[in-house]
Amino acid sequence: MSVFAGDVPACGGIIDAVEMIDHYIDGAELVTKRDSKARLRRGIFEAWGNGCAYCGCPADTLDHVRPLACGGLTVRENLIPACSSCNLAKSDNDWINWFRGQVFWDHHRETQVAVWLKDHLNG
Ligand SMILES: [Zn+2]
Repeated sequence: MSVFAGDVPACGGIIDAVEMIDHYIDGAELVTKRDSKARLRRGIFEAWGNGCAYCGCPADTLDHVRPLACGGLTVRENLIPACSSCNLAKSDNDWINWFRGQVFWDHHRETQVAVWLKDHLNG
């Protein structure tokens, strides 16, 4: 005998069917939220080729360009991949002031970050 919900006989009645649908919807919403978080993270990493937006090393964190402490939000337009070293060092500093003081500062990467922020804020 199967334990799958889909195999419940039709004579199980309408109430059973409605309960099944409710559970399904609840489950789907949980999965969707988890999925969208993972998708957001994956999408940002992919957009940057999995490299730290600041130094180019492999990124393993997402940096809030505008720090959470300064009212920055956890949204795509405020998140860029960063290696943990840059993320820690940048901390709550203004990204452009901090970045320009680094030995690995690069005009091209600074432009990329600025465009990312600008594109998303205008969009
Ligand atoms: Zn870095």
